Amino acid sequence: MITNSVLQITNSLSRQKEVFQPANPPFVGMYVCGPTVYNDVHLGNCRTFVSFDVIYRYLLFSGYKVRYVRNITDVGHLLDDGEDRMLKGARLEQLEPMEVAQKYSNGFHEMMRVFNNLPPSIEPRASGHILEQIEMVQQIIANGYGYEVNGSVYFDTLQFIKDKPEIYGRLSGKVVDELLAESRDDLKGQSEKRHPSDFAIWIKASPEHIMRWNAPWSVGFPGWHLECSAMSTKYLGATFDIHGGGNDLKFPHHENEIAQNYGACSCQPARYWLHTNMLLMNGKKMSKSDGNTISPPELLNGNSPHISKAYSPMTLRFFMLQSHYGSTLDISDAALQAAEKGYQRLMNAAEVLEKLNFVADAAQAQSSEIEAVEQLCRACYDSMNDDFNTAQTIANLFELSKKINSYKEGHIALASLDTVTFELLRSTFFGFIHDVLGLLNENKGNNANNHSEGLMRLILEIRGEARTNKDWTTSDLIRNRLNELNIQLKDGKEGEVTWVFGG
Ligand code: AMP
Ligand code: ZN
Repeated sequence: MITNSVLQITNSLSRQKEVFQPANPPFVGMYVCGPTVYNDVHLGNCRTFVSFDVIYRYLLFSGYKVRYVRNITDVGHLLDDGEDRMLKGARLEQLEPMEVAQKYSNGFHEMMRVFNNLPPSIEPRASGHILEQIEMVQQIIANGYGYEVNGSVYFDTLQFIKDKPEIYGRLSGKVVDELLAESRDDLKGQSEKRHPSDFAIWIKASPEHIMRWNAPWSVGFPGWHLECSAMSTKYLGATFDIHGGGNDLKFPHHENEIAQNYGACSCQPARYWLHTNMLLMNGKKMSKSDGNTISPPELLNGNSPHISKAYSPMTLRFFMLQSHYGSTLDISDAALQAAEKGYQRLMNAAEVLEKLNFVADAAQAQSSEIEAVEQLCRACYDSMNDDFNTAQTIANLFELSKKINSYKEGHIALASLDTVTFELLRSTFFGFIHDVLGLLNENKGNNANNHSEGLMRLILEIRGEARTNKDWTTSDLIRNRLNELNIQLKDGKEGEVTWVFGG
């Protein structure tokens, strides 16, 4: 092992950096709250999932055997007016709720692939785990933390606070009085709660509600927080190593998850809670309502007033990794342009390193040069061990790039290294760029994104030919078949054709 440093991560529970000690090494159980699939995945979501992808990758790279569970929320996520978000999506589009869930899950998976995120080990759906959720409600009631009113079941926060005053509010940093003052009375149909801070764990379905299941209390559906408690317990056990999500989920979602797990299993679900920070645009929170937003397809097409050109998936990934997951990240055209240059610099260095032909020469080897390279390689491990500091890791990789370029230019003789150090340089540089940071070399044309770009160009050329020949049958066939694949074509005024995924 090149470094003596150990992995430390900021635990939101203690608000401190702690040495990472999994309960059963080399196994690590990690649960991350996945998307709610009732509309298109947005860039903010992508930032959170890219952050956890790098965390997953670095744990694997460090030799852990990781079970990474990331759920799909396809039921039970309440809007402020109490309407199920999935149901709202279905009403708007006149689709079956499961059709909505499938459509946006497909889009989400496509975006995860485009940004080169590894798939999780298990991707459970809330709707596929209703029995587990019902069982958990039963346990919570049996332990005295749940009560039924008119077919709905609520978590009894007052009882929980009485029994575990040090637990409720610890994660979100809210004091109990504040939690009790938070009125959620305005939630439709939930005025029957004993206390405003109680939350629903099973909800009786109103007659028009489509997503509904039989349960001992009513025909209804589970509360949103319950799915993550039930599915993490099922696949990772009552207590597992890491639980993650965006920091907007700390309260109420994660705080209530902890309460439910105590209520059902009498223990804290996760040893380490990790929270990513929010993506901003031009210094403000990204928000659809005031137009301060840009979607992943718009970013990749350049089809937005907020950017001057299209940016590639790896430019965006690089851009995201240039900041620590715990800091806010501000997206802007200037920042993306800088990221594009930075990403190119790294890829250029990788290409140079691939071509460097090392021939060992004991007479030329210099211990100072060997130590300098070792030190730079060690720094890559140290920065990732420091709470997955990708920003510092990229800075270290730039230092290594300078070295690589000076070997190529002959400013420093490559033969001043020895074989072991040259191999260390290669394994560190390629390992961190590709395996840890998950950056593909888009210049090389050997990855799936470039293949699909090339194939799309070919298809559009054939369609262009058909249109020139007034062969409308073929050109319509191509458009319709692409639509079925969720690819929309846009014919421009000058005859140019662009395409977007998802439309
Ligand atoms: P949702 O689909 O809204 O349930 O969110 C999926 C994940 O994305 C959650 O972990 C959220 O915390 C996270 N998320 C939502 N908005 C943003 C944002 N603007 N920046 C970073 N992460 C976000
Ligand atoms: Zn969750």
